[in-house]
Amino acid sequence: MEWPVTFKCNNNCISCILDTRQTKYKGNPLMKQIETAMGSVPAGETINLTGGEPTLRKEFFEVLDCARKKNPDSLVFVVSNGRKFANKKFVEELSGLKLENLRIGIALYSHKREMHDKITRAKGSWLEAVQGIKNLLGKGFNVELRILVEKCNYRGLEETSRFIAKNFIGLERVVFINLKYTGNAFINRKKVFVHYSKAAPFAQKAVDVLREKGFQARLFHFPLCIIEKKYRPLAEGTTKGELDLALPKKCDSCTLKEKCPKIWKSYLPLAGESEFKPVF
Ligand code: SF4
Repeated sequence: MEWPVTFKCNNNCISCILDTRQTKYKGNPLMKQIETAMGSVPAGETINLTGGEPTLRKEFFEVLDCARKKNPDSLVFVVSNGRKFANKKFVEELSGLKLENLRIGIALYSHKREMHDKITRAKGSWLEAVQGIKNLLGKGFNVELRILVEKCNYRGLEETSRFIAKNFIGLERVVFINLKYTGNAFINRKKVFVHYSKAAPFAQKAVDVLREKGFQARLFHFPLCIIEKKYRPLAEGTTKGELDLALPKKCDSCTLKEKCPKIWKSYLPLAGESEFKPVF
């Protein structure tokens, strides 16, 4: 289950899947709506809290508490830009809630401060995200780094991995994610678009760096035919609803079809189908 906690955000990423020209005028979902949604989640199903930036919601701790009470066995996954966690008091308060099934996913675009801030269109966002990640790890939280792969950062992924391995010991895992071209990502497609198959070799090298240092790494939204065989187990399976995903007709004959994470529907009109080749 995926639920937006607020549509407010202190970043304005060029590759956000939402159109932030519109979402900035959207009001917060009511607490009552959130409580009802939490109550309808089947036992044990992961609750993804998204936004906007969920930590900006005044009642953020209440939302977490509600998730725990309604679904004690569910993993609660907070998708964040990490900036709020630069505030040590905030992290201490969160720690005081003693939530056992909590994972925090933080978007980091690059090891380079300027590049991250250019993508987020928020000066100082890299510094705060990096400090936030350190603060969370220092308190023993389960942290996942989420690297969205796009035109301006894909060539530097290996270096980004080196930075991560050096600075963020204790991460639960690092996930490289191919873009969905909706919202800002579609509006800014000239700035962010890269063919998945062009970025894949760089993502694979970035995975190698992390795994050599003992980190867990995954590849999300990398159709299996565009990556080397040995990386396929890191990319198998769908992580999103089928409505946003598609497979071209030619995939019918592919032996990897069942395990393939499929392709964002929004990618195909921009890129075409030619890079996807059935595996026999
Ligand atoms: S050919 Fe289609 S089904 Fe097979 S791996 Fe590629 S995208 Fe997936």
